[in-house]
Amino acid sequence: MTIPHCPNPRCQCFSTPRTEKWYHSIGFHPTKTFGPVPRFRCKLCRKTFSTQTFSIDYCANKIIDYNKILQHISSASGNIDMARILGCSVETVQNRIERLAHTAMAVQQAALGHLPLQEPLVYDGLESFSYSQFYPHHLNISAGADSQFIYTLDFANLRRKGSMTQEQKEKRAQLEKGAKADKKGIEKSTKRTLDRLRQLMEQKGLIRPLVLRTDQHQAYPRALQKHPIAALVQHESYSSKAPRTTQNPLFAVNYVDRQIRKDLSDHTRETVQFAKHPGAMMARCWVYLFAHNFHKPYRIKRMRMKDEHTHSEEAGLGEDCLKRILGQYQGKRVFYNKLGLGEGDSKSWFFQCNPGMESGRYQPKYYNL
Ligand SMILES: [Zn+2]
Repeated sequence: MTIPHCPNPRCQCFSTPRTEKWYHSIGFHPTKTFGPVPRFRCKLCRKTFSTQTFSIDYCANKIIDYNKILQHISSASGNIDMARILGCSVETVQNRIERLAHTAMAVQQAALGHLPLQEPLVYDGLESFSYSQFYPHHLNISAGADSQFIYTLDFANLRRKGSMTQEQKEKRAQLEKGAKADKKGIEKSTKRTLDRLRQLMEQKGLIRPLVLRTDQHQAYPRALQKHPIAALVQHESYSSKAPRTTQNPLFAVNYVDRQIRKDLSDHTRETVQFAKHPGAMMARCWVYLFAHNFHKPYRIKRMRMKDEHTHSEEAGLGEDCLKRILGQYQGKRVFYNKLGLGEGDSKSWFFQCNPGMESGRYQPKYYNL
């Protein structure tokens, strides 16, 4: 295995590729799961590391098949189902989902760098909840109008609304003494999405307006009007009450929403497998995005005719480029400081929590590296 860089983000050998040999070999250390593992020391910062430092299974003591996790998440299995199938604890399943979510973010980041961003985008929020029905949220998604590739994914807390019993109203008031959902949550989430789109347009030097289709939710024009990208976006709004056919201009997000409701057990209507933690919910969503964008065939009919090209290829990613990106991250640990994620994606990386709620989840320190 080649050693890609020093694992210490403060070391020059982390960010700058070196031509000279920058590390020493310092023997092996024995492990029960992976056998003897070669160890090294950085000549510059003296940090020691091993080949396992760069593996997706860094610090793991059980080998789990990530392909099975990918398949089961996108076919409505819950974490307890997967623990039973894989013969491990639920905590191990959660941990591997988090690792795979980090891989998904890295692959998405790399793919977005190569996509032409030529098609109109359709943007909408899928309403669901995590922890309890007192913590509803929007999953704000932008998808390609033609490819149904998911370009961005962001989380916005909402205040519980709709009819409630007196007891429920009292419980909500009690919970809100800790912290309230931000009234402008959807607007701020939309702003984060626009920040990301602006960054991509700048990277690609796009000067023609990007067509952004939404429904008539008032938060979208509010976010757009104040945003520096406003002049570069042609905003089209449509009624969300129109029939949800393939002819509907909002078809792409209607389709993605439908697939998520069908495929992800957290978001199935009247589910008993709702996510118990918003961070865990976003991790599962990122793994789902990974399956949807880069693995699942674009259309079932075409797949039956042996055409297995994916949503990412339909969005303009070359087959060789897709293979190269997937190969680059297969089985590898992803370093946060290498990715340059935006605000919304960073919240997902660190498995953010609902306001006023204790996270209660262990996050290894190396997630920060
Ligand atoms: Zn170093």
